[in-house]
Amino acid sequence: MIELQHLNKSFSNNEVLKDISFTVNKGDVICILGPSGSGKTTTLRCMNFLETASSGHMFFDGEDIDLSTISKKDRQRIRQKTGFVFQNYNLFKNKTALQNVVEGLIVARNMPKDQANTIGLKMLDKVGMLEKKDAYPSSLSGGQQQRVAIARALASEPEIIYFDEPTSALDPELINEVLNVMRDLAGEGMTMIIVTHEMHFAKQVATKIIFMENGHIIEENDPETFFNYPKEERTKLFLKNTK
Ligand code: ADP
Ligand code: MG
Repeated sequence: MIELQHLNKSFSNNEVLKDISFTVNKGDVICILGPSGSGKTTTLRCMNFLETASSGHMFFDGEDIDLSTISKKDRQRIRQKTGFVFQNYNLFKNKTALQNVVEGLIVARNMPKDQANTIGLKMLDKVGMLEKKDAYPSSLSGGQQQRVAIARALASEPEIIYFDEPTSALDPELINEVLNVMRDLAGEGMTMIIVTHEMHFAKQVATKIIFMENGHIIEENDPETFFNYPKEERTKLFLKNTK
């Protein structure tokens, strides 16, 4: 479904991604692990054109996209096939849960409000947030806000959802309600790339683990092999330190 090839990214003189390549098949749940500053966020942002790559290609549904020169129009078109869930939810504070979920459908897709609301309510129900449809973000817990953000990502029926540390900003007791929603999505076959520090979740849910450090992919494997038989010394140390 996606083939990322030779992605490189520099911020001025700082080379933060060095030749990142990997494949995403339909239904894959790819967990990207790695220490802070290794380039995980930048990888996702380049794949969703929130950052412009220095060089690299991405094949998406067979279409060859040059990540360094893609036009604004193509960016918007491809982005319609994707969802993005941020660490800090990024909800509009002056909109209700439902309004946040349907905003993109109404504004970016010109969908009639009634039709958008029908979809929005369905998605809020899916993440267990139907009862809070009229609540504003400030009255919701972090876990609830993140579930609304996931409902918003789902509303546009994306082919893939990118998650950037979706539970990192949450109090420990709220992490599971978000991970459970993601587990359900994985069970339904949703294709996802998830940057996370939740090792147990990654072990259970991932179809593939990618371990990054210092702008490189150090190791890539199925979770069973990755966690039980890591090849690289750096991976072994990381797993020991995150136990
Ligand atoms: P991670 O998500 O793995 O913690 P990031 O992708 O956020 O890593 O960052 C990788 C490197 O790129 C870091 O050294 C960071 O300081 C740098 N970086 C990220 N975003 C920017 C930016 N907008 N401008 C300059 N440097 C950046
Ligand atoms: Mg990050």
